[in-house]
Amino acid sequence: MLCVSITGDQSAAGDGIKDGTREIEKDISMDEPKIIYTKTFSCADDHPIVWYTVDENNKGVCEYCYTKFLYKPKDFHTKMLEEKELLDISMKESIRQKEERTTSEKMQEELEPIDSK
Ligand SMILES: [Zn+2]
Repeated sequence: MLCVSITGDQSAAGDGIKDGTREIEKDISMDEPKIIYTKTFSCADDHPIVWYTVDENNKGVCEYCYTKFLYKPKDFHTKMLEEKELLDISMKESIRQKEERTTSEKMQEELEPIDSK
């Protein structure tokens, strides 16, 4: 008699556990995984920084905040885009540097005649 009731309870509870980590699982499935481009990643979302490495399925879950991570190897297109972005940034930087230089040069030009006099 005891056995029957225990078995019944276990099967009911067992189903919940079998489906994974109960209410936590629900939260995870609602969140989109963060896309990462390195197999090693860090998470510091409202907790001390932790480093993880994705598993053989290229997935990882933070043990602190249950954030999902998905490793995506960089494809050619992404690389091209990134390089283009980097190029844009460096071009903008050089333009800004030029502008800064021009300003300081102008200031020097204004100063120089005074100095020479
Ligand atoms: Zn985290």
